[in-house]
Amino acid sequence: MERVLIHIHGIVQGVGFRPFIHKQVLHYALRGTIKNTSSGVELELEGERPELERFIADLPEKAPKLAVIERVETDFSPELKGFRDFQILSSKTEAQRNTLISPDIGICEDCLRELRDPSDRRYRYPFINCTNCGPRFTIIKDVPYDRAKTSMSAFPMCPDCDREYHNIENRRYHAQPDCCPVCGPHVYYLDAAGERVEGDAVELARAALKEGKIVAIKGLGGMHLACRCDDPAIARTLRRRKQRDEKPFAIMCRDAAAAKKICFVGAEEEKLLNSFRRPIVLLEKRGEILTHLSENGYVGVMLPYTPLHYLVFGDDIDMLVMTSANLSDTPIMYRNDEAIEKLSGIADGFLLHDRDIQTRCDDSLCFCLGGGEYFLRRSRGYVPFPVSTHEDLGMALACGAEQKASFCLSKGNYVFPSQHIGDLKNIETYENYTRQIRHFERLFDVRPTLLACDLHPDYLSTTYAAERAEEENIPLVRVQHHHAHMAACMADNALSGEVIGLVWDGVGYGTDGTSWGAECLVGGYRGFRREGSIREIPLIGGDAVTKDPMRVAWALLRESGESVHRFKDGPAWAFMLDNSLNCPLSSGMGRLFDGVSAILGVKETCSYEGQGAVLLEAAAKADEGAYPVSFEETDGVRRFDWREMIRRIVRDQADGVDRGVIAARFHNTLVDMAVRQCVHAREMSGLERVVLSGGSFQNMYMMRRLPAALEKEGFTVYRHRRVSPNDEGLSLGQIMIAKARMER
Ligand code: ZN
Ligand code: ZN
Ligand code: FE
Repeated sequence: MERVLIHIHGIVQGVGFRPFIHKQVLHYALRGTIKNTSSGVELELEGERPELERFIADLPEKAPKLAVIERVETDFSPELKGFRDFQILSSKTEAQRNTLISPDIGICEDCLRELRDPSDRRYRYPFINCTNCGPRFTIIKDVPYDRAKTSMSAFPMCPDCDREYHNIENRRYHAQPDCCPVCGPHVYYLDAAGERVEGDAVELARAALKEGKIVAIKGLGGMHLACRCDDPAIARTLRRRKQRDEKPFAIMCRDAAAAKKICFVGAEEEKLLNSFRRPIVLLEKRGEILTHLSENGYVGVMLPYTPLHYLVFGDDIDMLVMTSANLSDTPIMYRNDEAIEKLSGIADGFLLHDRDIQTRCDDSLCFCLGGGEYFLRRSRGYVPFPVSTHEDLGMALACGAEQKASFCLSKGNYVFPSQHIGDLKNIETYENYTRQIRHFERLFDVRPTLLACDLHPDYLSTTYAAERAEEENIPLVRVQHHHAHMAACMADNALSGEVIGLVWDGVGYGTDGTSWGAECLVGGYRGFRREGSIREIPLIGGDAVTKDPMRVAWALLRESGESVHRFKDGPAWAFMLDNSLNCPLSSGMGRLFDGVSAILGVKETCSYEGQGAVLLEAAAKADEGAYPVSFEETDGVRRFDWREMIRRIVRDQADGVDRGVIAARFHNTLVDMAVRQCVHAREMSGLERVVLSGGSFQNMYMMRRLPAALEKEGFTVYRHRRVSPNDEGLSLGQIMIAKARMER
């Protein structure tokens, strides 16, 4: 007999870890105690040495799938304390009360098998779940996490479920949302008028979908609108009713095999699609197909993640459009009554149920890069799981940006990024934002002693932060936008010290009060220097350019000395520009993309932000060519002078060069430009680490070339892995910088 002290570091609380340990302790006939610590859990166990060793060896293999074990320390001792049983010791200090809350988990293999087993008591039951799967974050009202504080409080367990819940050998031991057809929620189907239709709800929905109808389906974090994929007329109807012009729709495929019929799905993509987090993965289409769903080269695909989804697909539906049910910029709908009211005229039927969604949570969206997620949106399946940081951040709140709003809270070495919130300029979205901040503070027991926000004085997130700082007398740190992006990517990769930051973005408020865009910064959490940027582009009519990139095209051409005769509004724009009437300057990378896209005729009007850039990327064909790069210096900032590039583009166009080739050369020019900026920054600073952040790095053509080009020059390149490169990931950087400034 021996005694061992085991310290498990990582994310092991609130993930079903203690029941797992309990089971293993019984299995190996051990005795002792377990308690939470600030960085994980500590076990003290006694038993036979081989059994103890096997227990330890099992940990990484058999731990619950949400657990993140970072390190296991063991210390054996022959001195016994004579434990008689196994006890859970309560947490004493604040830091130790670190209850994590699980994200929602896609249905597991075991539950799926039971769902399809006619002899199982949960055969075809749409709410089947267990300790390893099911709803979590979206049904929680309050902590500590148990059934009474979730949407399941309305459904008392029947004796059968209760027995499973209390049996440690059972897969449903302590599964809070456990239920069955006797005691749990039920689905029902409503027609277009919101009237209940008698019959099998799932079959009614399936029949409607097959007929070409649009059906609202209640998911985990909100409502979806579903319809057939194969008919452009149906997609057009959905677009018209939803007032969504050209933005791509996501697709849900029955399984990976179905996805392979329309997209290229490699082994890594398949693994990500099948992961229990079930994100929407942007996959390359097999040719020019499904253009009525996505006009670019990618389509967002996810696999079913609730039992209800699997029932809807059955074995004869391959794929369905599955788009969030919301109206233009408002948040995703999540309540039955609001769905029926606001989707009338949009949905032809409703597949709903009586288990309430407490918290909105949109589907996550990512590319698969290097075998893992490269997020455009980190939401369902990931939130509210923390990202760990290499520094103790105390308790702080960072308020994020505005258009792609999100916030994060810190507690010690954990940062809790919020789900996708949306554009705060919409009042409902703003209300949801403030409500979610309070919800997170309660869930994770955080009372911020430090606030961070963007430097932009007019962001609603800035106003919110300023008000709270005032009311609660908490220090507030205002963080420059691009600096925050750079810090976010540093924290994402656990970097300290100083780096070169390439931050390519549409727009961010600069320290000089002007709008910054595609920046090359040098610095760390404590501060930065603006080393490089791009030549500023006059935005004729300010914000009007986002929907009318012809204005940018005109400005690029005119500044480059090229002919602008074909623009009918040219004279009016010239008057505005020459008299500085509403013509702010922008060094935004997004604007350069929009303008070139319009010059090439790829996209002359935009119905959503970033559309020009996405389509220009899609148009780019692999080509090795690039245009010459030169720089000019203004106010100590070395700027890429794009005029020569624009002149060459015009010449290529006149020579009849394929626009796909021109688009590729444009991308390649930016790669060259970025490498030269970094080489220059290295000469000035001696730094060799480069971080890539900002919304423009959602461009996969760039992401597949720029890191390699930089590495060839001897740089070490870091990109985002755990949070998004766009403004959604901004708050992580804000919190790091705020902490560093307070220390100084
Ligand atoms: Zn399960
Ligand atoms: Zn039951
Ligand atoms: Fe940004």
